[in-house]
Amino acid sequence: MFRNFRMISYVVFGRGCFNQLESILAEKRSDSDSFMVFLVDDVFESSSLIQRIHLGSRDQIILVNVGDEPKTIYVDELTDKARNFSSRLPDGIIGIGGGSTLDLAKAVSLMLTNSGSSADYQGWDLIKNPAVYHVAIPTLSGTGAEVSRTTVLTGPEKKLGINSDYTVFDQIVLDPELTAGVPADQHFYTGMDCYIHCVESLTGTYLNAFSKSYGEKALDLCREVFLVGGEDSADKLMMASYFGGMSIAYSQVGVCHALSYGLSFVLGTHHGIGNCIVFDCLEEFYPEGVREFRRMMEKSNIKLPRNLTAGIENSKLEKMTDVALMLEPLWENALGPEWKKVMNRERIKELYRQM
Ligand code: NAD
Ligand code: ZN
Repeated sequence: MFRNFRMISYVVFGRGCFNQLESILAEKRSDSDSFMVFLVDDVFESSSLIQRIHLGSRDQIILVNVGDEPKTIYVDELTDKARNFSSRLPDGIIGIGGGSTLDLAKAVSLMLTNSGSSADYQGWDLIKNPAVYHVAIPTLSGTGAEVSRTTVLTGPEKKLGINSDYTVFDQIVLDPELTAGVPADQHFYTGMDCYIHCVESLTGTYLNAFSKSYGEKALDLCREVFLVGGEDSADKLMMASYFGGMSIAYSQVGVCHALSYGLSFVLGTHHGIGNCIVFDCLEEFYPEGVREFRRMMEKSNIKLPRNLTAGIENSKLEKMTDVALMLEPLWENALGPEWKKVMNRERIKELYRQM
């Protein structure tokens, strides 16, 4: 069965295109009593970006905190907040921030029209009703969350996305100027998320011409950004993120993401930096990719934290391994249908002990 997947309906790209947001949203406002809810990363609380949002008279801003990556409990809290502004639903949810904020915006837009807790929908195609109209405005490039059909959430039992056609954004606003203030280390970690998406997609057994076309272009752009540099790096990385996301939409990620999910679930390690820590230990699986990654790391002057798992309790190591092993499609993509013959609990624990 071939995957028949939904794509973003509208895309606007270019430096300064954020200024077009008001006219884009105007078409979606149903009447004078309607309102939109902006979920904005609280890093922008006193920034000029927040002043640039043209608020309608009933619009609301919710500042979101991404100190922890999105949890189902936080999504439920934000959904209640958005619901309690009025007796009617908002006409739109607009997420402004990095991958965490975009995932929160996706999840809230889904949960406004689907009953229960967001934890009930972690999985594939469990969502029953279409979401409220939702828009992504990335301020940090790399995750591909702006194009994917998932919102990655940590729930009480698992770290797993709400994967559905309804999760996909209706509109994305790609303005490279918005990434100007990202700290250099964060820029690298999230940029490497994109690089690793490409390596895992391009070396995987699920590869096909669709994924390859997007993955190769995204990889080239990452090389230009992280090995050469230049004035239009922000524009290039924003497009690399988009293309990297499109590449994995029709293939899969691999060993690095499987292990990184386990690390994140147990230790709370953030996705970008977690991927970098894991990838640096995976030379046997991705020899060329890891060597190039190290060159990029050197060029950006990045020193990764070490000894994350030193002295870790055995129960935690077991839990990390459980979370990683649950992600069967990732292992199958990386190592083929017979992956269980080459990867087992002991080997995974050994890899974790190196981190
Ligand atoms: P993030 O959104 O967690 O943000 C990282 C840090 O950068 C935060 O402190 C944030 O406040 C700050 N920041 C963001 N934009 C900034 C700006 N312009 N200036 C200054 N600071 C800024 O980071 P991320 O790496 O973009 O996202 C990681 C999240 O994305 C994880 O939760 C991960 O699970 C998720 N993810 C989702 C998908 C998907 O397809 N849905 C794919 C990959 C990752
Ligand atoms: Zn990723």
